[in-house]
Amino acid sequence: MIPKDHPRYASLVRREKIAEAAWERIVAMEGVGSHGRGEAFDYLIGEKTTESAYLAEKTAAAFLLNAGCAVISVNGNTAALAAELIADLQTATGALVEVNLFHRTEERIQKITKLLEDNGVVVLKGDAERLLPLSHDRALCIREGIYSSDVVIVPLEDGDRCQALVNMGKTVITIDLNPLSRTAQTADLTIVDELTRAIANITSEAKLMDKNQGNKLIKNLDNKKLLKSAIQSIMENLSDAMDRKTQA
Ligand code: ATP
Repeated sequence: MIPKDHPRYASLVRREKIAEAAWERIVAMEGVGSHGRGEAFDYLIGEKTTESAYLAEKTAAAFLLNAGCAVISVNGNTAALAAELIADLQTATGALVEVNLFHRTEERIQKITKLLEDNGVVVLKGDAERLLPLSHDRALCIREGIYSSDVVIVPLEDGDRCQALVNMGKTVITIDLNPLSRTAQTADLTIVDELTRAIANITSEAKLMDKNQGNKLIKNLDNKKLLKSAIQSIMENLSDAMDRKTQA
């Protein structure tokens, strides 16, 4: 039991959720490693939503609301950490939710689908076909879902699949705490924030957004600038920490 007054309570709760989900084989062992990398970057970013990440989240809300067919792609880590938040995001934006895994087994697809449904998500069902230009099972997706989407949000994604989706002409939004990852660098819109904070913020912005505001945000998107701001925040945090150390 994690004590509620622990200064890093929220982060430890997330770690515990990932560990439990790994025991249940919802999260792949490789996903435990990915989570650790995310935690490290969250530390560097100050475990908070930066101003530029919030702008990215608002812009993501605008893209999801403006889409012809928006899809939220959910993997094991995303389901384990944010099933309930995905349900709220789906209600606020009308997006489809497709389970899409890097380490794909039928057993994991079914377990993740059940976890999402138990939390109120309507999960897209259908036969996965090899529709993405990638080797191995990463090519699989549902024709009426990711394949047909014009806007797709792929949290905690692999760089190759992100690139393939961009090459297919989709607007690809990612949530990734590492601004240097291939995914972060390849996506059209990169939210450098922790998954649960990011999804909650996208949902609350989607509930408030009007068409004019949405159009303006889409028009003004500058992903290079967003990535640069994220790296700048990390550098400032490190430099503050160094100053504190040398003053001590
Ligand atoms: P790439 O192929 O894009 O370079 P990668 O190999 O660095 O990716 P993966 O393990 O495929 O990384 O993807 C996980 C990414 O998600 C990592 O960059 C990690 O920092 C990030 N991440 C992990 N957990 C979270 C989280 N809770 N919130 C936001 N980002 C996270």
